[in-house]
Amino acid sequence: MTRKKPCLVGENKCDVIRDVPAACADKDAAVAFMEKQRWADDPCCPLCGGVDVYQMKDRKSGSREANYRWRCRDCGQKYTVRTGTVMAQTRMPLRYWCHAFWRVCSSKKSVSAKQIQRETGLSYKSALFLLHRVRFAMADMKGVKLSGTVEVDEIYIGGKPRYKGQSQRGRGTRKQPVIGMVERSGRVRTCVIPDVTGKTLKDAVQQHVRKASRIITDEWPAYRKAVAGFDGGHSVVNHSMNEYVRGDVTTNTIESFFAILKRGLIGVYHNVSRKYLQRYLDEFEFRYNTRKVDDGERTVAAIQGAIGKRLMYREPEERAA
Ligand SMILES: [Zn+2]
Repeated sequence: MTRKKPCLVGENKCDVIRDVPAACADKDAAVAFMEKQRWADDPCCPLCGGVDVYQMKDRKSGSREANYRWRCRDCGQKYTVRTGTVMAQTRMPLRYWCHAFWRVCSSKKSVSAKQIQRETGLSYKSALFLLHRVRFAMADMKGVKLSGTVEVDEIYIGGKPRYKGQSQRGRGTRKQPVIGMVERSGRVRTCVIPDVTGKTLKDAVQQHVRKASRIITDEWPAYRKAVAGFDGGHSVVNHSMNEYVRGDVTTNTIESFFAILKRGLIGVYHNVSRKYLQRYLDEFEFRYNTRKVDDGERTVAAIQGAIGKRLMYREPEERAA
């Protein structure tokens, strides 16, 4: 049995921009588009990896079977392009998936469910459902740790405080803390965290950053414990002393990412429920980590990311309207 590697990101970038309008408008074009992004010219069975596969035909007309199924001669199973992806177990037509992937990947600051609702005529719940799954496709599950020089900082997400006396900003607020870690000129990673104690910060940093790295933070005392033991050492920039850059010691990279994130969350999403915050973070992370490729390549990367992901928690809405 031969195993087929998925096509590489970038191979189809010109085609993506050319093919997207048709794929968003037409059923057959949408299936062809998704199959091309998933398998390029070498279709394989998502269940066993076999390459001896064929499209099932309708006996009478000789054209493709109504559900666009494939069959694998190695394992005898039937499947579709949705099998084993975030698009499985839903009846949402593929042209809407194409639309959502493209819109999220080609916008600088993402797109709201309201916007998708207006553009497609889907219900708000269905639009939200699509966007949540597209974001899930963007989540980086490979878990390759960050390395080199890594800036670490936290941000506090949430609407304006409702009561007087809670209006504190930054550390000490009741807003939701999020830790961000970024490689200099590399990848970013963010995690929703319950608090900003040394233990919590330590767990997060150890989970996402290689031990050989050098860590840069501000002077928040909890970081001293949290990042002890990293081989590259710990440099501190002292914001309370109005120090922002000392040689190469600065947390400007992570702070600019947080600025984009904050603007995005306020501008597009207004307020984000805590339950789904990590998915919004995944989206901004993905956009940052694919900042050097064009919209077509980013769309392919997101669709490739949809493969092999099963949903791990409940959706706000399971059925398409
Ligand atoms: Zn098979």
